[in-house]
Amino acid sequence: MEMPTFNLEGKVALVTGGSKGIGFGMAQALGKYGATLVISSRGVEEGENAVIQLRKDNIRASYITCDVTKKPQVEELVHEIVENFGSLDILVNNAGMNIRKPLSEIEEDDWDMVLEVNLKGVFLVGQICAKQMMKQNYGKIINITSILGSIGMPFQTSYAASKGGINQITKVWAEELAPYNITVNAIGPGYIKTPMTEAWLSDPERIGNIIQSTMIKRIGEISDLVGPIVFLASDTSKYITGQILNVDGGWTAR
Ligand code: NAP
Repeated sequence: MEMPTFNLEGKVALVTGGSKGIGFGMAQALGKYGATLVISSRGVEEGENAVIQLRKDNIRASYITCDVTKKPQVEELVHEIVENFGSLDILVNNAGMNIRKPLSEIEEDDWDMVLEVNLKGVFLVGQICAKQMMKQNYGKIINITSILGSIGMPFQTSYAASKGGINQITKVWAEELAPYNITVNAIGPGYIKTPMTEAWLSDPERIGNIIQSTMIKRIGEISDLVGPIVFLASDTSKYITGQILNVDGGWTAR
């Protein structure tokens, strides 16, 4: 029997929003398993500091600034990666944001901003990376969704809409790109402590409610995503496509 490996040596990976939080953790994980990393975000200083951290960990990493909502910047990002490293094998489509408000208080601009970054951004980055992967006849796309892509919760109208969209995009791309030897899957984290959720998770009552809803009685940690991202980025998952892997301590299975 052929024994596929988790080793990512020789693979080039892009993690959007890789300067902090979940993106940074996933970049670390892919780098530790041998991938050459490019991380991108808008905040240059934070991005460059993240690269310094990754390099201290003996990871081959570089930073390119890119706002995922701006098509010319995304095109330039992918062009630079291919020019510098020769290919783009793994995309972690991670950059995202949230504005939590009750339905009656959501401004049109709030809705537009969340959908622009979380859904249009994922579309633009995915489309432009997929064109390169189709030329290579190889690729692994991992979209970062959320449990809110499949369940409802108060104050999450725009965010849940964007993440539900990502789940659907994942299934459509999986079918379109399968003939090009590209798999497309998504990871749906539950609540994980990051800069995005820090303030939201500072309320002890809210933490209690989250833990109550979770089979494994704790908040998630970035390290909980290491196994799933390496698995979906490596050839061990080559017969898996179009799937949403929720990493949520069992929340969505209840
Ligand atoms: P985070 O700590 O706020 O990090 C977000 C990253 O995305 C940063 O690097 C940020 O850098 C970048 N970013 C934001 N807007 C961008 C844009 N327009 N263009 C390019 N980069 C942009 O958030 P996180 O908690 O790690 O979340 C990462 C992903 O996981 C998101 O898609 C989020 O929806 C998802 N998620 C998180 C949780 C959780 O509990 N934390 C749960 C489920 C899903 P700049 O601001 O400098 O651009």
